[in-house]
Amino acid sequence: MGKITGFLEYQREVEPYQPVKDRLKNYKEFTEKLPEENLKHQGARCMDCGIPFCHSGCPLGNLIPDFNDKVYKGKWKEAAEILHATNNFPEFTGRLCPAPCEEACVLGINEDPVTIENIEKNIVEEAFKNGWVKPKPPKVRTGKKVAVIGSGPAGLAAAQQLNRAGHHVTVYERDQKVGGLLRYGIPDFKLEKHIIDRRVEVMEAEGIQFQTNSHVGENILVKDLKKEYDAIVLCGGATKRRGLPIEGADAKGIYQAMDFLKQNNQRVSGEVFEEEALLAKGKKVIVIGGGDTGSDCIGTSNRHGAKSVTNFEIMHKPTIERPVDQPWPYWPMRLRTSSSHKEGVERVFSISTKRFKKDKKGNLTGLVTCEVEWINKPGQRPVLQEVPNTEKEWECDMVLLALGFVGSEDTLVDKFGLETDMRTNVKAGEKNYQTNVAKVFAAGDMRRGQSLIVWAISEGRQAAHHVDAFLMGTSYLPLKGDGDLPRV
Ligand SMILES: Cc1cc2nc3c(=O)[nH]c(=O)nc-3n(C[C@H](O)[C@H](O)[C@H](O)COP(=O)(O)OP(=O)(O)OC[C@H]3O[C@@H](n4cnc5c(N)ncnc54)[C@H](O)[C@@H]3O)c2cc1C
Ligand code: SF4
Repeated sequence: MGKITGFLEYQREVEPYQPVKDRLKNYKEFTEKLPEENLKHQGARCMDCGIPFCHSGCPLGNLIPDFNDKVYKGKWKEAAEILHATNNFPEFTGRLCPAPCEEACVLGINEDPVTIENIEKNIVEEAFKNGWVKPKPPKVRTGKKVAVIGSGPAGLAAAQQLNRAGHHVTVYERDQKVGGLLRYGIPDFKLEKHIIDRRVEVMEAEGIQFQTNSHVGENILVKDLKKEYDAIVLCGGATKRRGLPIEGADAKGIYQAMDFLKQNNQRVSGEVFEEEALLAKGKKVIVIGGGDTGSDCIGTSNRHGAKSVTNFEIMHKPTIERPVDQPWPYWPMRLRTSSSHKEGVERVFSISTKRFKKDKKGNLTGLVTCEVEWINKPGQRPVLQEVPNTEKEWECDMVLLALGFVGSEDTLVDKFGLETDMRTNVKAGEKNYQTNVAKVFAAGDMRRGQSLIVWAISEGRQAAHHVDAFLMGTSYLPLKGDGDLPRV
């Protein structure tokens, strides 16, 4: 640890954002890099607390105090090596992770935590800038062949790890380009897509094959894959959407958030799409659902030039402070205000939509809501209850449904004959990531349900270890928190 008194001397400082009026003019990322000296001070705030709870807060087990120390000392290359030892893609997590590590930071008990996520982003950007991120092809090939289905963060992490173990890896992706929700869900203003491309180039140079426009179970047959490959890793995500089957749900103007977001990402990257253009320009938009997807719809609608944007959340408004029943170092459910929220939105909590209204031509004209409360009874799940006499009518001509996802899509599940759990996630044990089908493994959202990028990378790495052990009898690929240390 570099500076013993750093946490006493320096305050937390995060990257500033460009002004709202400027950033709404385009889809580019809008954070402004801190000067190197300031970043070193942020690294110096790490306290050498003895038991770094941030390690266990991070689903990858990132070696956080170690890279903080290197940043404080200006040893960026060493910091990048430490970071990459546990995280294949810090350029994604450094931009998009909600940073559970920061909630678990010991300094966070009575001060603002260390800016771990931002330090991570700066380390990896420094590494790319200086050419330190080089392809690492394996020295020896095992002759074994592995197919990875799905190119989101879980599939990419599994592919890179398995390739490093010497196996021949082919990634099958049904979409036009690689990246999963990083590419087609998350907007460019949170992650510009050249960031994915530069990493995929490194992976291709390492020997990984990418086959896009390859829909397994449709234009790629499962029986052919089973014949050709020694192991198959399913990383197909959990993108079965939740609908809102209430009166008027067929009105023209109601869309699934993912249709809206995917199309916008395609538009920004110049991809051709055949569907009708979904544009919020000049419209009164209501986004139903208050999570990450809802937030991305708000940012995108404002960039389209929506007349107004309103966001409904069925849960009650959380407190800004950590709730008392969710103590440090746990992840607390507190009010989170994203950069998109700050760009202009009316947020309404404890609200439920009862019916949509449409004109004679079937166009959406508004909706009717009521206030709701959650009733807690000991030993039972909380029950949602309408508050009497709270019906309210809202005018709108576009509704975006960001209601979450209900599990993996059917194609892979049906065509492979996979067992699923009650939440329709694919059953694959945490001990070996194996499904009920011989030599078929599952990881990422497909196994754990819609989650986070950091979890997807972690699952991809864990699954790779178990696939490697299945193929070779033992594996030297690291498990969570091992870094690149060999494991017998
Ligand atoms: C709008 C939105 C915003 C989000 N924002 C954040 C955020 O800011 N931070 C964060 O940490 N997390 C965020 N998440 C969650 C995060 O994106 C996911 O948890 C993560 O991408 C899951 O990775 P994955 O690899 O398991 O699946 P995915 O990223 O869903 O990738 C699955 C891939 O499998 C492919 N596929 C599926 N079936 C087949 C098939 N039969 N054949 C071939 N390919 C197939 C899909 O096309 C897709 O490319 C967000 C999610 C959404 C929807
Ligand atoms: S990946 Fe996320 S949780 Fe892990 S160190 Fe980075 S910001 Fe923290």
